Amino acid sequence: MNVFVTGGAGYIGSVAVKTLLDAGHEVTVFDNLEWGHRAALDSRAEFVLGDLRNRQEIVDAVGRAQPEAVMHFAAYALVGESMQDPLRYFRNNVTGGIYLAEAMKEASCRRIIFSSTCATFGQPDRLPITEDTPQRPANPYGESKLMYERILLWLQEREGFEPVFLRYFNASGAVERLGEDHTPETHLIPCVLKVALGQTEKVQVFGDDFDTPDGTCVRDYIHIEDLIQAHVLALESGETGAFNLGNGDGASVLEVIEACRKVTGHPIPAEVVDRRPGDPARLVAGADKARRVLGWKPRFPDIGTIVEHAWAWHQAHPDGYPD
Ligand code: UDP
Repeated sequence: MNVFVTGGAGYIGSVAVKTLLDAGHEVTVFDNLEWGHRAALDSRAEFVLGDLRNRQEIVDAVGRAQPEAVMHFAAYALVGESMQDPLRYFRNNVTGGIYLAEAMKEASCRRIIFSSTCATFGQPDRLPITEDTPQRPANPYGESKLMYERILLWLQEREGFEPVFLRYFNASGAVERLGEDHTPETHLIPCVLKVALGQTEKVQVFGDDFDTPDGTCVRDYIHIEDLIQAHVLALESGETGAFNLGNGDGASVLEVIEACRKVTGHPIPAEVVDRRPGDPARLVAGADKARRVLGWKPRFPDIGTIVEHAWAWHQAHPDGYPD
């Protein structure tokens, strides 16, 4: 298929591009390189430097590519930042998404695989979080993603769009030359590995008084290779609708740090500090639907393997990507 990938130079999008190309698909990447990296681009893909908030840029790019499907990764994705500047999030994630949908409509492309998030659920009443769990976002980031899900549902109803929402839990790990490099880095695993690399002295644990077995937050870490496998299955299946993507059993912050100590052999000092605003105690996916309907089978559910792959990438790229 001819696939148009927004955010294809980013952490998750770049793995999608590689996987699609390896599977024989044709790919156009659209990225503004604000969070993406030129070095993460795949030379086999067509690259368009452009910004979703510029309607003409996205309309022209989709018009030229004439894709059969879009994978939409480009978005702002930091909860804390979205609390500080909600409009920035709505403008990029919602307005930019509308321009993308308009561009698709003009190019008669209707199929879209959309990167959604467990943040659309907020703090759920029950675990695991399934597709039927009520969506009550607790921050503008989650709200912006839910708004776009709803826009796409209306476009499905009124315009013949074929949307798939893949709601990610905690994307992590690395695939060969593609890994996680954000500036600033806020995600747990890379922050812990930076201590092992000697770039920071200790890792901060944001609260140890949560209602969890060891008092630290539990998250469902999912390897990006598995995450992207679900995208390809969704693309090729012709299914529409929402799928939650996680492994179903979480790891606590302390368990992740311990896994990093084992893999790196570094003592990784940790210090407990205040909670980070907006952090729910436990977020764990119920991903039975993806397994049942898409035939999805995660290959790397173990947190130790996820950390091993992330560590291999960080050792090979101690300063991240060159650009
Ligand atoms: N966390 C932490 N120290 C850090 C970074 C993250 O204790 O330096 C915690 C954070 O509070 C959350 C978990 O690790 O409970 C995962 O955070 P991350 O930002 O990686 O993902 P999120 O679940 O917020 O999307």
